[in-house]
Amino acid sequence: MAETPEQLWERARGSLRMPPVHEWRSWPFEGDLRPRELEPPGERERPRAGEGGVDCSRCGQPDEIYLWTNERWRLTAPPRNGLPVVVLLEPRVHCDFGSIPEELVPEIGPMLVRVEAAVRAVLHVGRVHVCRWGDGSEHLHWWFMGRPERLPQVIGTLAAIWDDVLPPTPEDVWEENLATVAATLR
Ligand SMILES: [Zn+2]
Repeated sequence: MAETPEQLWERARGSLRMPPVHEWRSWPFEGDLRPRELEPPGERERPRAGEGGVDCSRCGQPDEIYLWTNERWRLTAPPRNGLPVVVLLEPRVHCDFGSIPEELVPEIGPMLVRVEAAVRAVLHVGRVHVCRWGDGSEHLHWWFMGRPERLPQVIGTLAAIWDDVLPPTPEDVWEENLATVAATLR
């Protein structure tokens, strides 16, 4: 039988574990840590930005601010941060993963492959992490995080945290990297 959030919370209280993060090469921090207390379940899921397409910040944006667009897809970038290149792929139409129009489904695979290759084309990108979380904005979007090559700590899931730990990429480098992605897609 499936466990409710209340049951999970009761079971987890006082039993949270501390993984050996200090042994992980990719762990960006030093010092003692302990798990934060698990807050009890909420009444309902917290609403996401642009829920139901209402006041969606993505739908309202003109093509001009995008790196690349076609009839059905648009590619944008989040604010400049520590990783050398990060872009977001989203369908033009407002939908979630589970409500994506049927005619777009066959395009998902080829689009992910295309954008990954375009981000990988940026000089000194070691690997591209392709992620979909979906807890922030309802408008479907995939993250493509280009992590720098040959930095043995900046790998895996924690590359997303290193994005906030590394100092911001210089603006001219960031702009050039985004231009490479756009040019490769074109
Ligand atoms: Zn939207």
